Amino acid sequence: MRNKISFSRILLYFQEVKERNNTFEGKRVSLFSLQATVLALVVSLAASRAPGQAGAGETVIQKATEQFESTPLKTTVLDKGLFMFSGDGGNVAAIVDNASTLLIDSGINSRVTELNHAIFKATGRPVTRLVNTHWHFDHTGGNVYFGSEGVTLIAQENVKKRLSSVQDVPFTGIRDGHYPPQALPAVTYSSSLALHQGSQQLTLVNYGPSHTDGDTVIYISPANVVVVGDLFSNPVYPIIDLASGGSIDGIIQSLNEILAHTDKQTQIVPGHGPLATRADLENYRDMLVQVRQRIKGFVTAGKTIEEVVAAAPTKDFDPTWGGGYVTPDVFTRMVFSSLAKTGSASL
Ligand SMILES: [Zn+2]
Repeated sequence: MRNKISFSRILLYFQEVKERNNTFEGKRVSLFSLQATVLALVVSLAASRAPGQAGAGETVIQKATEQFESTPLKTTVLDKGLFMFSGDGGNVAAIVDNASTLLIDSGINSRVTELNHAIFKATGRPVTRLVNTHWHFDHTGGNVYFGSEGVTLIAQENVKKRLSSVQDVPFTGIRDGHYPPQALPAVTYSSSLALHQGSQQLTLVNYGPSHTDGDTVIYISPANVVVVGDLFSNPVYPIIDLASGGSIDGIIQSLNEILAHTDKQTQIVPGHGPLATRADLENYRDMLVQVRQRIKGFVTAGKTIEEVVAAAPTKDFDPTWGGGYVTPDVFTRMVFSSLAKTGSASL
């Protein structure tokens, strides 16, 4: 099993982190970073496969982990003092002011020191605040590291709840959560929160349960950039985290809100994949609406989940959207369960 970490791999991991820390900006290995390393490893071991395969072949978590561990880390400049980092899990955004960097999401834990190097190289300023778009491991994996360094963690209130205990994501094999206290958000909000970072105003908004029950969309103005987390993965089928309150209707509703608050010039940072435009987001919303409509028809007609999967309701969309770690089969099961309101109970 891929997620079983051998003792020799643990030793290699420690050695690698120690070497990176020794060379990073001439900084010595502090008690804090050593503690962060130990805790990161604990979280790494906790993020493992849950029972319940996602159909034939590899699970979503297996495919996703392979991708997140092997994709080179890329830095993209969005605007002056505004960056996107991609490859090590969910996309990460950074906004600088004179003295600090505000981060949005923290990638997977096994690549956090690499991410921190890239951030410092691009921004030249230490991270002091970190906003999580939601609780999933590929967006919060660096929380232990940054939290242990005294960075203030900020998220919608349900993120704290989800990260406080073990969570399973249906149809994916993802089991994670139960983070240590320093990796939990210290600042939480319910429906919206305003922050400033240098010349940029950040508006954090939760539109209700969508991908999870703790999604945050971050509007950055005047840069005209929106960070949407996993409400949009470009261009692949999304995970609908039914056990965390997610639903297909909630995702569509949130996307409609984002479309209403953006324009042609808006740069959209998706949860995964390349930088997107409003037109990309609209196209994605339209696909979701059509898939929802088709599967709703099957649900109303009393079809079973297996009958719906066999009918391949996403077939014509698969060449464009079916190439990610959420296969057409898995996506169909998620949409069906969302509409049939069976949630995780059907698993
Ligand atoms: Zn997610």
